[in-house]
Amino acid sequence: MKRQEKLTNFFSTEPGTVAEGDLQTSSTQQDGAESPPIIETLDECDSNASPAVKKPRLAFDPMDIGRFVRKSSSLHAPLTEEERFKALTDCWKPDEHYQFPKVLESTRTRAFQHHYLVKWPWLAYSEMHGGGAFCKYCVLFARETSDQRGPNFLGVLVAKPLNKYKKALDILKNHERCQYHCEAKGKAEKFLDWYNDKVGHDLRNRLLAAREEQVKKNRQGLVPIIRTILLCGKQNIPLRGHRDDGSLSAVDGNNNDGNFRALLRYRLDAGDRLLEEHLNSAKKNATYVSHTFQNEIISTIGKIIRRRIVAEVKVAKFFAVLADESRDVGKTDQLTVCLRYVGGEDNQHVVKEVFLKFSDVEEKTGSGLPAAYSVFFKKKD
Ligand SMILES: [Zn+2]
Repeated sequence: MKRQEKLTNFFSTEPGTVAEGDLQTSSTQQDGAESPPIIETLDECDSNASPAVKKPRLAFDPMDIGRFVRKSSSLHAPLTEEERFKALTDCWKPDEHYQFPKVLESTRTRAFQHHYLVKWPWLAYSEMHGGGAFCKYCVLFARETSDQRGPNFLGVLVAKPLNKYKKALDILKNHERCQYHCEAKGKAEKFLDWYNDKVGHDLRNRLLAAREEQVKKNRQGLVPIIRTILLCGKQNIPLRGHRDDGSLSAVDGNNNDGNFRALLRYRLDAGDRLLEEHLNSAKKNATYVSHTFQNEIISTIGKIIRRRIVAEVKVAKFFAVLADESRDVGKTDQLTVCLRYVGGEDNQHVVKEVFLKFSDVEEKTGSGLPAAYSVFFKKKD
């Protein structure tokens, strides 16, 4: 009497023995499929399998190398760079406890061995196409030279899985030595170098763009402050009061903290968004409204003005020096130096008299003053 099959046998998750003929049938049927669906069943791959070896529904891994076998064919749209990179670096790999399906070859059953994957890093196992091994380098890159190498080279390990294991070691050793594999391996390595460099380059560009954006934003925040200093200079308005340290509040305090800060508040009140955003987002030690920063800006503006004057004087070629010495409120003797020359643009010649700089005088004697002039004009700034 035939033994009754238990119901649970039909849903066993342990891979069973698959006959060699069944695997070939499975592979042939898959050849026609353009793109394997995300979820396939072994029933679909192996329609001739007996009920005893039927498997439950299995979802193939999205990174199973078998998915790229058909995709890398010239009949289909080429793989994207990202797909190739993922397939090369992150393709599915069965763990050490994975039960590879046994294949009946003549009188013996054999199965794929996990240590093959360790010994040949280019090897990848696929559960698709009936189950078997592929060379991921050749699957992804060897087809590009297929026309030059004859019709038969894209066989086992490239177009079809290695699923007969009697001579597996010889096949794998020979494959590793063959020319198209070496070329595909070289292409894969070059591709990885190029892709990693490209990703790194993109990242560097993104960082650079972010930095440039930050620099631009920082500079925009300084514009209202510098314009206010320029306004004070042009209108002869003293900048500072007795208390002009600390953060700038939008509301007037009880103490008069100077014209510069009052003018900045005036800009805020008039709706200067750039200044408002800068003061709100800047760190406390980087608001650039301190008297130290005011002096730096005044000094920088002075250098720029002097450079322009010197450039005009060089064009004019001839100039006169107007100088006098006087004592300031601090009882320091100062030399005032002005220049007189003919300048102008577009043949509009005008006589210009411009102030150049104050300079301290240590000795007001007949020889001391010419020495002070000499030191003054030798200074580069
Ligand atoms: Zn190969």
